Amino acid sequence: MPRPPPEAFAAEDDEEARRSEYVLMLAEFLRSFHSDDLRRILLHPEPSLHFPLVIDYAELLEFDPGLANILYNYPKGFLPDFDAAAQRAQGEVLEILNKSELLASPDKSKPAAVQKEFVHVRINTSGSPLLFPESSPSIGKVRVKHRGILLTLKGTVIRSGGVKMIEGERQYQCRKCNYRFHCHPELEAGNRITLPASCPSKSSKGCPSASFQLIEDSITCHDYQEIKIQECVQLLDVGSIPRSIPVILMDDLVDIVKAGDDVIATGILSAKWSSDVKDVRCNLDPVFIANYVRRTNELKSGIDIPEEIIKKFDFFWAEHRDTPLKGRNEILKGICPQIYGLFTVKLAAC
Ligand SMILES: [Zn+2]
Repeated sequence: MPRPPPEAFAAEDDEEARRSEYVLMLAEFLRSFHSDDLRRILLHPEPSLHFPLVIDYAELLEFDPGLANILYNYPKGFLPDFDAAAQRAQGEVLEILNKSELLASPDKSKPAAVQKEFVHVRINTSGSPLLFPESSPSIGKVRVKHRGILLTLKGTVIRSGGVKMIEGERQYQCRKCNYRFHCHPELEAGNRITLPASCPSKSSKGCPSASFQLIEDSITCHDYQEIKIQECVQLLDVGSIPRSIPVILMDDLVDIVKAGDDVIATGILSAKWSSDVKDVRCNLDPVFIANYVRRTNELKSGIDIPEEIIKKFDFFWAEHRDTPLKGRNEILKGICPQIYGLFTVKLAAC
């Protein structure tokens, strides 16, 4: 087997050096803007949970426009670097915590700070330039050109699937040189693992082996849920059908939204191969892999009802204190007054 030319190794080394530089910069960003969040995560008593670390895109843009730009253009490669930075920042904050604890009198009642293995950096794009139509299209306007960038979609959850468990990354060992490496399954291909064609060992001679052994107990499992979001009907032109898209939620994002919720999801547009059935054409179905999901219902109910209307309702029910059913009937009469009768139907819709 021909060996790759030396330049290929140099390019790989460059890439690695660049990535570790990014991790350093991102860790600095997390330390300066989110040290309280990091401290809260470190002090949490449950070490095996998945923790979200929500950052504002606008904040990152202000900190370093270059990094924010890379995050927007290459989120798939960059988000794992961000998670690695969260680990590094955790280590640094932990060191400071331990030092300050040594100086102060040790308090046994306080929980000990422990570095957590699963911290996911979640990107909140609200209030940032990423809400322009190019990176936040309506679901019906999602096209191939939106693949690969950090995309924000707004919609209503119309279906939420059950929570499942899927296998995540696992570790393999080369049977020839004992080099160990991680393999990530592809969500797009039904969570299938593709092993490398040859040993990825970076030894100077290279290793031509293609026989690998799974290391026992090296599989990490993740919570997994698929939901479907539909574009807001109010924003559509008359006569058009609202479109929807499946969204994959993992780990700490699972089970935080339910059908009927209005959500803003930030993530990566991808495509999933439909399951291979003989004599049936294989299709690529769009799927949205979420990095962050935010419910907007609560915000709405807080903002939309003006004080006067609340007062009007209070006054109305004070007036009908002794005759609440009469009050109810009066409200029912006000629902679609152009449709006569249908009392029970209106009551059910109420
Ligand atoms: Zn090998």
